[in-house]
Amino acid sequence: MALTHNLGFPRIGARRELKHALEAYWRGDIDDEWLRATAAEIRKRHWILQREAGIDLIPVGDFALYDQMLNMTALLGAAPARFNAPEHGETGLDLYFAMARGTATQPAMEMTKWFDTNYHYIVPEFDADTTFRIDSLQLFREVAEAQALGISPKVVLIGPLTYLYLGKETKAGFSRLDLLPHLLPVYRDILAQLAFRGVVWVQIDEPVLALDLNDEWLHGLDQAYSALHEAGAKLPKLLLTTYFEAVDNHAERLKALPVSGLHIDLCRAPDQLDTFLDGYPEDKVLSLGIIDGRNVWRADLVQAFSTLNRAYSTLGQRLWVAPSCSLLHCPVDLALETRLEEEIKSWLAFSVQKLSEISTLGRGLNHGKDAIQEQLNASTRARQARQQSPRIHNPVVQDRLQRLTRSDSERANPFPVRRLLQHKRFQLPLLPTTTIGSFPQTPEIRKVRAAFKKGEASNLLYLESMRDEIRLAVKKQEEIGLDVFVHGEPERNDMVEYFGEQLWGYAFTENGWVQSYGSRCVKPPILYGDIYRPEPMTVDWIEYAQSQTTKPVKGMLTGPITMLMWSFVRDDQPRPITTLQLALAIRDEVADLEKAGIGMIQIDEPAFREGLPLKKADWNVYLKWAVEAFRVSSSGVKDDTQIHTHMCYSEFNDILPSIADMDADVITIETSRSRMELLNGFGQFKYPNEIGPGVYDIHSPRIPQTEEMLELLEKACSVIDPKQLWVNPDCGLKTRTWPEVVTALKRMVAAARLLRNRM
Ligand code: GLN
Ligand code: ZN
Repeated sequence: MALTHNLGFPRIGARRELKHALEAYWRGDIDDEWLRATAAEIRKRHWILQREAGIDLIPVGDFALYDQMLNMTALLGAAPARFNAPEHGETGLDLYFAMARGTATQPAMEMTKWFDTNYHYIVPEFDADTTFRIDSLQLFREVAEAQALGISPKVVLIGPLTYLYLGKETKAGFSRLDLLPHLLPVYRDILAQLAFRGVVWVQIDEPVLALDLNDEWLHGLDQAYSALHEAGAKLPKLLLTTYFEAVDNHAERLKALPVSGLHIDLCRAPDQLDTFLDGYPEDKVLSLGIIDGRNVWRADLVQAFSTLNRAYSTLGQRLWVAPSCSLLHCPVDLALETRLEEEIKSWLAFSVQKLSEISTLGRGLNHGKDAIQEQLNASTRARQARQQSPRIHNPVVQDRLQRLTRSDSERANPFPVRRLLQHKRFQLPLLPTTTIGSFPQTPEIRKVRAAFKKGEASNLLYLESMRDEIRLAVKKQEEIGLDVFVHGEPERNDMVEYFGEQLWGYAFTENGWVQSYGSRCVKPPILYGDIYRPEPMTVDWIEYAQSQTTKPVKGMLTGPITMLMWSFVRDDQPRPITTLQLALAIRDEVADLEKAGIGMIQIDEPAFREGLPLKKADWNVYLKWAVEAFRVSSSGVKDDTQIHTHMCYSEFNDILPSIADMDADVITIETSRSRMELLNGFGQFKYPNEIGPGVYDIHSPRIPQTEEMLELLEKACSVIDPKQLWVNPDCGLKTRTWPEVVTALKRMVAAARLLRNRM
């Protein structure tokens, strides 16, 4: 029998039950017992659901109250000393959430993106004194819970290499890889405990194998898996699990590891199958990730089945069928979508639907094609209907893409020429002050917007409320004394959704939630067809703001890469094409803003960096099309129209040439948290255009003093020619309150003025 299994199920719940329970617990509305009971209930429901879907091996240990890496930190007793973890006794909820969310005296542990997903994990902290011991029994309790339901659990653990690799060293002069010999005995203990409890299989996730690993880490891999194996010892079988990229560069090494099986991702890297099939060891299972865990499309079952059959002829019963990665990155259940158009719905599969695709494929392998003919036919019909649907194809867009030429991605003149014209037009002082776009999204704004969406507030009421907000924002900016204004984005709930809703080719779900971090979820829109902008999306709002002031108002748009990265995108055309379509839509918006007399237009690209492929060898290809898409979106304007862009981070050192190549007249970035350190790269590179390094961290309620911002600005001036510098916060201000914003920005303006007067 070829087995079917799942690598992980979304834990937040179809109706975000876990989110609601967590937030109620944090507010103090429910106690820990209630929270634990809710979590157990969710786990139970998901296990039963997977069993009923026909999945043979059901994952246990993929659940987490906050994050799977944090679960490992708790299990391994690796809480950083700064949290004063008790010497004895289990890592309890207080410590667990303290690490995730911080305490009155300790900042939370850092959080960062899980590979190229939008999920964020809690980064383990290591120093030479870090020790490990089993410190949480939660995993074992979950194993017992599953067993009580008659489920024989396949336990999911993050592997030792990945756990160390994804952590960070908090002190210099030590390498976290040195901890491996201390970590392995604890992993062994955990495995022995699981074996003792009757666990036969452990899925041990080593996604870092998809990254560029140096020899030391690869050696660590060999060392780790020899230590976790010992002939005759009572340990569960290990399924070494990789995903998100090809690992065939390590194929021989992986085949030689003393584990009982491997899992590879055939959705991201279909070509790696042959390398693995070739001389695959007789004593190992090969699990194929054939159903895409990173996207929402119904699979092409015919093609998947033929791939599996090919593998089956070599592997026989040693073939397992799985999603490419954990379904954590997919929404839960398509059945909850009642407002999505039936046609579009018929092209989609969320987690629940994906499980049934997996089980169908397993049945086909075990009982022959006839047993699943009906499903194969249905899949083909859906695929063909999608291919031929007029919703997807827009000849106008395709035609325009064909006609794109080099000149469409070039401004008329190089920056030095544009710069003079822009300076003449805007007459800004040295070190001009501005903000990144959004102003506080007050409860009142949210209320009106929600009522409008539900049809409970009239168009006119909505229009007037938003205009009131814009007037208020303009008035505040006058009072603060900024040089370049924004309208404040009151009409936007989300920077991608706002545009997606107005573009053809995008669909939105009601419950398509995906966990981003902790209790936070996002609902990525689904980009299904050719992107077309039927009419202007922002012009009225920006024009209105401009009519209220003589100061320049920056138009505010979301860039093509960010629109792509934060959506579920088409799998039927290459991403660069989709991005260019988005770029054309934005280009038209830029043109309309310019026509309306708007002289500065900001195209936000906070997701530019996260689009970078996992392997460095693939970076250049990505950077080339990503930069081009940005340039297509921004190059259709006159020389004296100033294009701004914004990115919420500042680690650019490795991609600075591409950032410069985007050729935005002004870029604003996040630098305050690194105390301007990260600006050095721009200085050394001699970044040619203008740049606004953020002088205060908007993520924290703390308001820095004028002197502090002044100091950062002085630092910036020592690295970059002051004539190139702008003064602004790190990012948009939508999560702050007005009193905070006014005080902070007044101090920021004061700092800029102090420095200006000295020049
Ligand atoms: N203009 C957006 C804002 O200010 C930018 C958001 C972002 O960078 N993520 O909110
Ligand atoms: Zn930002």
